[in-house]
Amino acid sequence: MNPRELNFQGNSPLLYLIATPIGNLSEMSPRALQVLSETDYIAAEDTRNSGQLMAHFSIHKPFLSCHEHNENEAADKIVSLLKEGKKVCYMSDAGYPTLSDPGQRLVQRCLEAGIKISVTSGPSAAIDALSVSGLDSSHFYFEGFLPAKESEKDAELRDLAQRQETIIFYESPHRIHKTLVSMASILGDRKAVIARELTKAHEEIIRGTLDEFVALDEDTLRGEMVLVVEGSKEKKEAPNERSILDAVLSEIKAGKKAKEAVKNVSERLGIPKNAVYDLYLKSKED
Ligand code: SAM
Repeated sequence: MNPRELNFQGNSPLLYLIATPIGNLSEMSPRALQVLSETDYIAAEDTRNSGQLMAHFSIHKPFLSCHEHNENEAADKIVSLLKEGKKVCYMSDAGYPTLSDPGQRLVQRCLEAGIKISVTSGPSAAIDALSVSGLDSSHFYFEGFLPAKESEKDAELRDLAQRQETIIFYESPHRIHKTLVSMASILGDRKAVIARELTKAHEEIIRGTLDEFVALDEDTLRGEMVLVVEGSKEKKEAPNERSILDAVLSEIKAGKKAKEAVKNVSERLGIPKNAVYDLYLKSKED
């Protein structure tokens, strides 16, 4: 465990992640603007976009570029600056850094270097879409972007097909139709919501089913969108004793120690470790 220190006390350096608007500039939080006005550097996924955003709020600070293709080197530089005592904030193009956006490797590097991480809250397309969807939000699964390659996309959808939670996807207007066709055929006809252009003048929430969405005119699905899809309604069959035991034995056969095999099966099937272990012991007695 790392040594504990409150984020806003003590001397260790701290990186701020800044959530930025996903369309409507008035969603830039006053707290984010306060933090940005006191920072020494703004690291950004796209310094041009963030430069325009900052100019809108009359914030003028030196920028550092930190995007998907230079994140490792940029992170080294940001870590050195923070260790020298400089204040640094990081923002992506929209919403939360690290959520289908760069920032994860930067956060990782900072944590390895003993740098604390904080965040100024703001909008995220995923959560905005889920909240307006009307679909079950008590449990949800964030998928983000599906793979671009059709075969990989279909394989991923097959993996998702049994999930009972509501699933949140990001998708681009160029791929939405093909994705809907794949979804309708692999997931079946489920309730779904397309949340388009959230917080912007042409915001639209389309409610229907996957089959109905496949029939929509592609030209009407422009702009940025989140697809929220109902989880599977099929009840998961509880695994029986024989299948639990078979799963343990196949792990052991593959080279795992009994203890590890029991732990893996317990986690995979969501069954208490003791129960799996008892079954295994009983099978040895028989
Ligand atoms: N980091 C962002 C977040 O926290 O939401 C997500 C960035 S990801 C690169 C961009 C995708 O988010 C878009 O392709 C779209 O699926 C979704 N998105 C972003 N802004 C949106 C908006 N205003 N309305 C609907 N979807 C949006």
